Amino acid sequence: MTASQYPTTDDARWEAMRRRDRDLDGAFFIAVRTTGVYCLASCAGRPLRKNVEFHETRESARAAGFRACLRCKPDQPRETLRWATIPTSLGLALVARSDSGLRLVTLGDDPDVLVRDLERRFRSARLTPDSEGLRSEFEAVAAEIDGRGPALDLPLDAQGTDLQKAVWAALRAIPAGTTASYAEVARSIGRPTAVRAVAQACGANPLAVLTPCHRVVRADGGLSGYRWGVERKKALLQREAA
Ligand SMILES: [Zn+2]
Repeated sequence: MTASQYPTTDDARWEAMRRRDRDLDGAFFIAVRTTGVYCLASCAGRPLRKNVEFHETRESARAAGFRACLRCKPDQPRETLRWATIPTSLGLALVARSDSGLRLVTLGDDPDVLVRDLERRFRSARLTPDSEGLRSEFEAVAAEIDGRGPALDLPLDAQGTDLQKAVWAALRAIPAGTTASYAEVARSIGRPTAVRAVAQACGANPLAVLTPCHRVVRADGGLSGYRWGVERKKALLQREAA
């Protein structure tokens, strides 16, 4: 999820709350004046709009006199993610892992930018820097990014919609050294008219290189964009073609 998708208006927050959007848990807090509690976006409670106020942080909700809802427990971290940054041939990789598997692999040049992006994506998680405990797994990620050794069976825990997960699985089926168009990926998941949604799912891929969205190019062979910089995409494709 990118920062721009975070609801910044109360109307957008209200809509997210009506959807019970778990991905936005921690992005804002809903305080209910009639009950005096504050909640996560996904809470099962159904307050009336006129009784609701929104807070950007739990601290703000508490300062306004609200206490944590006992049902959705907005005062507790939802999960723990352990993370580290690793140098690779494509710059710095930030790797984050849940108990289930790799949740995030991003690429960049500035560690502060990568960490801020991590914090923005996982506002309700406990984020624990850990370069030692996961060293062998994180080094395997770096090896895959660097094109050293075969793809490893790393446990993946990317979170997304069913369509996004189908697209990401299709991307992992594109062999190294080859490319596919967005339309081809759409056909491969049985959704030939969903080209735009496929392109959006590629752009939302949370596991750089491990889910090879860089192997998707325009139908005319043009590189199209790349979330982590088109120069990195070019370098990856050139290396895989060699
Ligand atoms: Zn609640």
